[in-house]
Amino acid sequence: MMLALEMFRSLPRTVAGKTLGDRLPLVGGMAHPIRLVTIDPPRVDKPGWARLRTRLSGICGSDLGAVSGKTSLYFSAVVSFPFVPGHEVVADLMEDCEDLPKGTRVVIDPVLTCAARGVEACPDCTAGATNRCSRITVGHLAPGLQTGFCTTTGGGWGQQLSAHRSQMYPVPEGYSDEQAVLVEPIACAVHSALRADVTPNARVLVSGAGSVGLLTTLALRQLTPVGEIIVVAKHGHQRELSLDFGATEVVTPKEVLRRVRRLSGAFQLEPEYSRGYLLGGVDVAFDAVGSKQSLETALHATRAGGRVVLSGMPAAADLSAAWFRELEIVGTYASAKTEPGADGRSSFDVALELAGHDAVATLAKTVAPYPLHRWREALDHAQSAGRLGTVKVAFDPRKRG
Ligand SMILES: [Zn+2]
Repeated sequence: MMLALEMFRSLPRTVAGKTLGDRLPLVGGMAHPIRLVTIDPPRVDKPGWARLRTRLSGICGSDLGAVSGKTSLYFSAVVSFPFVPGHEVVADLMEDCEDLPKGTRVVIDPVLTCAARGVEACPDCTAGATNRCSRITVGHLAPGLQTGFCTTTGGGWGQQLSAHRSQMYPVPEGYSDEQAVLVEPIACAVHSALRADVTPNARVLVSGAGSVGLLTTLALRQLTPVGEIIVVAKHGHQRELSLDFGATEVVTPKEVLRRVRRLSGAFQLEPEYSRGYLLGGVDVAFDAVGSKQSLETALHATRAGGRVVLSGMPAAADLSAAWFRELEIVGTYASAKTEPGADGRSSFDVALELAGHDAVATLAKTVAPYPLHRWREALDHAQSAGRLGTVKVAFDPRKRG
């Protein structure tokens, strides 16, 4: 038996609201209550599968969205209940898995692709765009877009989980677990920076300076020919961090339009009873939060014909600018086995290198690990991480105290 946190089933949010109280804001969709349970470790008796013991597992914005009911009902068709969350995972192999011996420390690409599901590869998997796999509800696993959203595999918020060899990347010796737990979010940032197709010296805005914004800034600086990177940071401690990760300029949400206007020679307009916007602006903007405000900042600060990249799970926003300014809206989800923008390497291989960067090593020292039974505190902490001066909160299921 093992300890795990379980997201057990969805309730209409009016009911869930009573359970969760006012700790987490309930905006839309379904809230998924969590409980600490003792269950059988997940096991998949199929070729290429092995059991793992979790070392650390991060809390991501998409996890908080599921807990609080902010996630769109769109996603209810690609998860299976009850599931153990946790898709940012560092873990040890409990048994040999093909070429990897028992005891190997690995990070997991959480996407549950055709290879993991034992079905013939779909066209996207064949092309290496594994994050676009269209078989995420079939094969020998229950529906689930990723480890941490699938009832069969378990997730990192449990003492054990199961994963497929195709998902595993061994962690280099010198890396701490805290560095390793950042590899999955770095891989997503690598994918989204490459998806943005940044041209030489392009002026780029990154809206948000939490882990997604910081790691996206790093990936842009290290992997693309970007020029200026303007990062929008809400909280004081994020200013210095953003500069360490490669920003040329850090602004508050209040200053952003005025600052981009000056830098790019744009015009600023103030519509009635609504938020201001620019005519002119940056070439590419990333929404690295997934809030209405952050997405609208990205839309309103991008020049006509520019590109807006959705790095966070997006909220509903006013899309007028996308129409009026002919913006390209680019979705980026998870990471791919083959990145054409990285000579065909996987986002994870690139991320494993970036995890060795000084800025990441420094950030890793601030990762806040919680034992499973303190899950309420951990989720509250993650929800207010920016305000509290933390970037990444994680569970350490080995911890008792
Ligand atoms: Zn596939």
